[in-house]
Amino acid sequence: MSIFQSKPLITRMAPSPTGHLHIGTARTALFNFLYAKRHGGTFIMRTEDTDKERSKPEYEEEILRGLAWLGITWDAFYRQSERTDVYRGYLEKIIKSGKAYVSKEESKSKPGEQVEVVRLKNPNTTITFTDEIRGEISFDTTELGDFVIARSIDDALYHFTVVVDDHEMNVTHVIRGEDHISNTPRQILIQEAIGAERPVYAHLPLILAPDRSKLSKRHGAVMLDEYVAQGFTKEAIINYLALLGWNPGTDQELYSLDDLIRVFDTSGIQKSGAIFNIDKLKWFNKEYLSRLTDDEFYTYIQDSIPESVRELPQYAESRLLKLIPLMRERTTTRADLEHDCRAGEYDFAFSAPQPNPELIKWKKDATPRETLPRLQKLAELIATIPEDADTAVIKDSLWKYAEEVGKGEALWPLRVSLSGKEQSPDPFTIINVIGSPEAYKRIITACDTILRAS
Ligand code: GLU
Repeated sequence: MSIFQSKPLITRMAPSPTGHLHIGTARTALFNFLYAKRHGGTFIMRTEDTDKERSKPEYEEEILRGLAWLGITWDAFYRQSERTDVYRGYLEKIIKSGKAYVSKEESKSKPGEQVEVVRLKNPNTTITFTDEIRGEISFDTTELGDFVIARSIDDALYHFTVVVDDHEMNVTHVIRGEDHISNTPRQILIQEAIGAERPVYAHLPLILAPDRSKLSKRHGAVMLDEYVAQGFTKEAIINYLALLGWNPGTDQELYSLDDLIRVFDTSGIQKSGAIFNIDKLKWFNKEYLSRLTDDEFYTYIQDSIPESVRELPQYAESRLLKLIPLMRERTTTRADLEHDCRAGEYDFAFSAPQPNPELIKWKKDATPRETLPRLQKLAELIATIPEDADTAVIKDSLWKYAEEVGKGEALWPLRVSLSGKEQSPDPFTIINVIGSPEAYKRIITACDTILRAS
């Protein structure tokens, strides 16, 4: 879009508080915010709550809270339900000038009752407008007839309120979903009736599911709060949403909100539908999680450690802290981590396993007993390792012996004695997390169990 215009640039986000905050709404808000900020303009938030039956304050609260959480902040705020007088003024003006008229009709909602609706006198022309993304669009408005713009003089409808507000608030750019293209001719007719200037229009491509149908609940989460609950960070969501239908024209993929403010432009917005790819969003999340310090990551995971884990007999914060590098490696979202915790993936850190001699036995050994000399030697070596040794030191202390007798022969029984599991982190990591004295105890218990079993 050309920024060489005389009026200060103003964009707006106009959510109807009739449902939860959809990620498509968040993307539209983001694009409007970025565009205004990029050009030193103003970004307005306007709640469009003229539909009294469907609008709910709790939805408004959720939408505003969600957008603010993402870092999308506004310079001014309006609520349409508080602007009835403004709409009445404009209705009276165009009724007086003959561009609209009051029509006594039977109520649609209450048959048998007479109502006085306001209809726009349609000049029946062809409306042509230039959309910044889709180019020139023409509509023959004849078939719209004299459409209703207010249910009564105090109850203006969406098309009318949107046009009056964009005019009153000096909105210069209307950036919104493609589903509003078909509303635009009606709104232009109203603009012409009230003498408003036409804003620049940019209609964003729809967000599609991988099968190219319109993204909906049946494809998974579509509400921002659902993603937040799963532990997607705002940085990942912003970065992902920005690239959902917009292409920066370079290979760069990682953008902070500030980076986006520097480079975003509507010229990079595509015409075709934007496919929602959850794997890509997860990729961004992992990227942003990898940038957290250990302390930040610890705060991030706090609420995802289930009680069942915190109640394990050896649970200690110090051990949880030692698990952080491992958790980072395996965690894409907090929901993943919670799932792994519940599946017992980290139990080895907080409880001694019940030894299972058949599992401890290395595959080449005929009986579990054959592992005993190796486990005993390893126990001896572990007894010499300081309790707080790091993983490299632990590995150094055991590696030579493991190479001597065969890595599988030594490390498999060791790891299974420590974790009780067929699959678990390597034994050096486990010893680091639980400390060498606990590791020693677990190996001795494993040896005792093997002896008793055979
Ligand atoms: N309130 C409308 C909606 O939520 C948006 C109006 C507009 O952007 O023009 O769909």
